[in-house]
Amino acid sequence: MAAAAAFSFASRIQAADSAKLQSVTLDAAQAKVTHEPFGDLAIYFNGATDQVGSMTAGSLRLKAGRSPHPPHQHPEEEFMVITEGNGEILVDGKMTQVGPGSMMYCAGGKIHGIFNTGTEPLLFYFYKWKV
Ligand SMILES: [Zn+2]
Repeated sequence: MAAAAAFSFASRIQAADSAKLQSVTLDAAQAKVTHEPFGDLAIYFNGATDQVGSMTAGSLRLKAGRSPHPPHQHPEEEFMVITEGNGEILVDGKMTQVGPGSMMYCAGGKIHGIFNTGTEPLLFYFYKWKV
């Protein structure tokens, strides 16, 4: 179950359209939303830019008590920005309590994960890229 969810999450993120991103402002209603068992995943941007080969920007409204996948690693670098709720982020072996205003950076290939340890949804935005 967890493995299937992780696979689904990963394959959706990697389904980049090869078209270069357009310069545009999107609101939440324009993001591609999928309802995962762990919460609502919204992809705003997914594709190449002038500077990088692939860029994914989106948000995840993570349900209370859930994690989108076991701690994982990938070649992409990643930022996560917490805007609502409370939880924990594991990055490169260190677990940190997070809440609105917290931000994570993870270098390519380092293990990281996020867990909603609160009783309300945890909303975070993520930006993931590879040159
Ligand atoms: Zn990641």
